[in-house]
Amino acid sequence: MYRIDHWIDGHTVSSKSGRTGNIFDPATGQIQGTVGFADVDEVDQAVANAKAALPAWRSTNLSRRAEIMFNMRELVSSHRSEIAALLTQEHGKVTADALGELARGLENIEYACGIPNLLKGGYSEQASAGVDVYNIRQPLGVVVGITPFNFPSMVPMWMFANAIACGNTFILKPSEKDPSTAMLIAELLKQAGLPDGVFNIVQGDKVAVDRLLSHPDIAAISFVGSTPIARYIYETGTKNGKRVQALGGAKNHMLVLPDADLDMAADALVSAAYGSAGERCMAISVVLAVDTIADELVAKVKSRIPNIVVGNGSDPSSEMGPLITGEHRDKVAGYIAGAAGEGAKVVVDGREGAPSDGFFLKPSLIDHAQPGMKCYDEEIFGPVLTVVRVKSYEQGLQLINDNQFGNGTAIFTRDGGVARQFQFDVNVGMVGINVPIPVPVSYYSFGGWKASLFGDLHMYGPDGIAFYTRSKVVTSRWPDPRTSKVDLGFPQNR
Ligand code: NAD
Repeated sequence: MYRIDHWIDGHTVSSKSGRTGNIFDPATGQIQGTVGFADVDEVDQAVANAKAALPAWRSTNLSRRAEIMFNMRELVSSHRSEIAALLTQEHGKVTADALGELARGLENIEYACGIPNLLKGGYSEQASAGVDVYNIRQPLGVVVGITPFNFPSMVPMWMFANAIACGNTFILKPSEKDPSTAMLIAELLKQAGLPDGVFNIVQGDKVAVDRLLSHPDIAAISFVGSTPIARYIYETGTKNGKRVQALGGAKNHMLVLPDADLDMAADALVSAAYGSAGERCMAISVVLAVDTIADELVAKVKSRIPNIVVGNGSDPSSEMGPLITGEHRDKVAGYIAGAAGEGAKVVVDGREGAPSDGFFLKPSLIDHAQPGMKCYDEEIFGPVLTVVRVKSYEQGLQLINDNQFGNGTAIFTRDGGVARQFQFDVNVGMVGINVPIPVPVSYYSFGGWKASLFGDLHMYGPDGIAFYTRSKVVTSRWPDPRTSKVDLGFPQNR
């Protein structure tokens, strides 16, 4: 048994609130640790430290900020195995997947290494006689990241790398289900040379989040999690005058057209639906199969499922680990149990043969799903792929556009013209063409549409820099005082 607490002003601070949460080992179902939950005073302590660290940090040279990010890049890289082991220990994901998450997170630290270039403003000489105009981007102040359980290293890196590089100080509220990775990241940031107080962690639940949402010294909040909480964070944070980007849940559809290579499509579907036990916001959870190839595609997916090795993530032979909690496993199982009663057909039932220790389910495949069925309408967030049979490209597109979520989608086809039309027509923020999980590289930005994102700016990349800074425009002239006179007219440039 171990205990996890806060990280404030460069060191661990024990919670004295008396409220704690259990940290489970999802592969065994046993409690392995405890996390202290922050009360209002502990959140206030973190905010006060972040606020105190702000003046010196925002005055720190850009080249020094870049140097710290380069140091952090090297440190994360050299601690890869240690971080991946923590991810497996608390989240349950298999080692290869944990290393993959970390590699995608690291891209954001690499992006932030370019901060001197990213913060360049524009300059217009002689906008008027002897008048120059330029814009600069300045940090917002103390900013917050609230993150989900499913990417304990990558999602914080989406946020803090750019936020800190832009000159803000940062408070992370990680998921209470797997809080340890964030603490290791905090230690590495310290080793990288980041001054104390610039990066802080408060552990906790709704109490901590609500205090962060209302604290007058918090300027902005980045959130990633489920849609109901994302909506709540956005509404409450903006009502309290904060800048908010809140990314929510998903139901990502892959449209498979008759001309697609069906073996390739089936490989992609199995990988994208069952990787990380389906606990990815960019997982494919629905396949839209055009009638003429639907039987063949379902058969190809079904034939691949028995080969997936489900087991403890730390076992090198495992390809898919457990779900995060027993409660979540039971909720996912409930969708499988209910599907037949709604008129769908359970082709592979992942409740059968799952390891009994831990929070395991094996991959499930549900055919003949329809809008109006729970297994189609709701985000399941587990290793369940539902098949909806469609008559045409147009019907598939309509279903995607009618869906409440708009995070990711993919089309599998060999017809470039249709793929381009899909990219033009589809109301989804991230689109894959023969790419099942189109998570943008770090120099683009990540974000869904509709109920998958509340706010105006996507996360990381250029939008991340825009989110964590505000623009200031300076108009300047250096006239000869002898030419000065009173002029009540509105300033003109011609
Ligand atoms: P969650 O919404 O339950 O929790 C996210 C964060 O919010 C956690 O830090 C949690 O402590 C906090 N929280 C939970 N309930 C709260 C409440 N009532 N009030 C205030 N704060 C609260 O999400 P989760 O289960 O950790 O993560 C899975 C969800 O995240 C899925 O819906 C998934 O699609 C989504 N997700 C989305 C993206 C994306 O980029 N759009 C990425 C990853 C995960």
